[in-house]
Amino acid sequence: MIPYVTDTPDIRIPANLLPADGRFGSGPSKVRPDAVAALSEASTRFLGTSHRQKTVKSVVGSLRAGLAALFALPDGYEVVLGNGGATCFWDAATFGLIESKSQHLSFGEFSSKFAAAAASAPHIGAPEVITSEVGTHPEAIARDDVDLYALTHNETSTGVMMEIARPAGSASPGDGGGLVAVDATSGAGGLPVDPAQFDAYYFAPQKCFGSDGGLWVALLSPAAVERIGRITGSGRWTPASMDLAIALDNSRLDQTYNTPALATLFVMDDQVRWFNEQGGMAFSTGRCDRSAEILYTWADASDFATPFVAREADRSHVVGTIDFEDAIDATAVAAVLRANGIVDTEPYRKLGRNQLRIAMFPAIDPDDVASLCACINHVVGALAG
Ligand SMILES: *Cc1c(COP(=O)(O)O)cnc(C)c1O
Repeated sequence: MIPYVTDTPDIRIPANLLPADGRFGSGPSKVRPDAVAALSEASTRFLGTSHRQKTVKSVVGSLRAGLAALFALPDGYEVVLGNGGATCFWDAATFGLIESKSQHLSFGEFSSKFAAAAASAPHIGAPEVITSEVGTHPEAIARDDVDLYALTHNETSTGVMMEIARPAGSASPGDGGGLVAVDATSGAGGLPVDPAQFDAYYFAPQKCFGSDGGLWVALLSPAAVERIGRITGSGRWTPASMDLAIALDNSRLDQTYNTPALATLFVMDDQVRWFNEQGGMAFSTGRCDRSAEILYTWADASDFATPFVAREADRSHVVGTIDFEDAIDATAVAAVLRANGIVDTEPYRKLGRNQLRIAMFPAIDPDDVASLCACINHVVGALAG
């Protein structure tokens, strides 16, 4: 039972314990002040200018090239973008990527939503949905009649990550096997991935890419591009804003079908440049690895906190979920943290556990994660005292 907290205990955390930046939310998440300063500096030349002209197209081009470099995309893979966020990509995929039957690994709020979108689409067959207990993830099963496997790199609601691999025993898409489509909204840029293992790896900018929401980006393999062309050619009705063939055509011109949020594009491009300048994926994933090591080592050693995810290999390096013993009210801890400027550590509401959820995206300084742990110790001590 989580007690209902009516007001926040008056606990002031000593200034020397506080993190330099108090944003630990799982999305929207910390935006680097340097990226905002760069946007401000460029604002009179960039904001409020046409997305069909060179100024904006060059940022989109830089973003597409930067992502291709960051993920070391093989020849023939394409970076495609469109409006509406990861949620809209699920709908676009039901129109343009699923031929007739998908298989979904459903192990939390986000992964269940794509499964629901596919189940409700009248133009494709019923999906196969494989579930597992919260705090774990299921494995995909190769099937002859499945033409798209829907995986999730990091289940943001529970803090479970999984390695991205084609289902054991499945043929490659070139030999008639299903496509692998990965919701990497909270994992992309923070967790390692091998492009040979996916056909569509899609995400939104407000998590590891430290920008605002409202955009989707998909890294597509040649097999995914071929699938989009085949479905379009088959005459399936698709709303233009959901049409991946239209998105692909526009992306190739460094544009979007309709008007994008220019600030979002700029700040995302700044983040990708920052990753690439600092050492690419080894840098960005290394920051998350270090933060995760700090958080889980602290929780393992604590006498009141434990990592929620039992299996160490499944514990996310980008979103940590930490259970608290019953005597300590995590809601009160989160409220005190918030009153002290440390925000968005509340658990995913529908999970309903006595826990904190802490983002460890690349923009978040591992030293700040260490400071956060010290702050939690202080707050718990003060609440008990
Ligand atoms: C945040 C998130 C989404 C939703 O992203 P939107 O851009 O809000 O649509 C989907 N999947 C995962 C795994 C997420 O973390």
